[in-house]
Amino acid sequence: MIRVLRARFVAAVLEAGRYPDRIDPAIGREPEIAFAGRSNVGKSSLINTLVGRRALARTSKTPGRTRQLNFYVVETVRGTFVFVDLPGYGYARVSKGEHASWRSLVERYLEERTLLRGVILVVDIRRGIGIEERELLDYLHFHRRPAIVAATKIDKLSRGSRSAAMRAISAAAGDTPVVGVSGETREGRDEVWRRLTVPPIDLLDTAAQGPLTPHDGS
Ligand code: GDP
Repeated sequence: MIRVLRARFVAAVLEAGRYPDRIDPAIGREPEIAFAGRSNVGKSSLINTLVGRRALARTSKTPGRTRQLNFYVVETVRGTFVFVDLPGYGYARVSKGEHASWRSLVERYLEERTLLRGVILVVDIRRGIGIEERELLDYLHFHRRPAIVAATKIDKLSRGSRSAAMRAISAAAGDTPVVGVSGETREGRDEVWRRLTVPPIDLLDTAAQGPLTPHDGS
């Protein structure tokens, strides 16, 4: 469906509001899609599956790389898009201060970035949508950010348990579309891309690309 020509990691952002808008010609200009999810759900694997690269987003956890926004430029036959990997949430043991800086980094990006077209909330199909995921979906809805849920690791369940789990996730997701994916078998890849290229997200809608506002830059 969507053929990816090239993909590159551009920058990691550690400070709220300091986006890499002048580092790469695509960033600050092309539409963005953000990936959210607790750590270990398969967020990096999903990014790799979507771009068809084995290790663009690292699937190994590197300490210190977890509290930042990672910006990737993805060139496809249908246009150039920017993938923004948000730091994983759901850390039970982080200090209050760390939690506050995580919130300001992620929430400022989600609330003020005009180039952001939508968010993929990544969940493990075996774990589904918990309180934090539900809160994030409500928060995105409140801020009028279109979202889809990607349920990963579908290859780990039998057909029967898979459809039961997908039904439960869809029920918990409400109006938010849910797509099952696997980094192992690549199942769901085309469906995620399809969801990214139709309303309400529609990365292909060039008319929706607003000019940079002062909020977008540093
Ligand atoms: P992240 O922390 O959310 O970025 O998660 P990763 O993408 O690093 O994945 C965490 C672990 O789950 C790794 O060991 C992956 O190999 C594994 N994993 C991720 N996606 C899948 C999947 O679709 N199927 C299977 N079987 N394993 C997966």
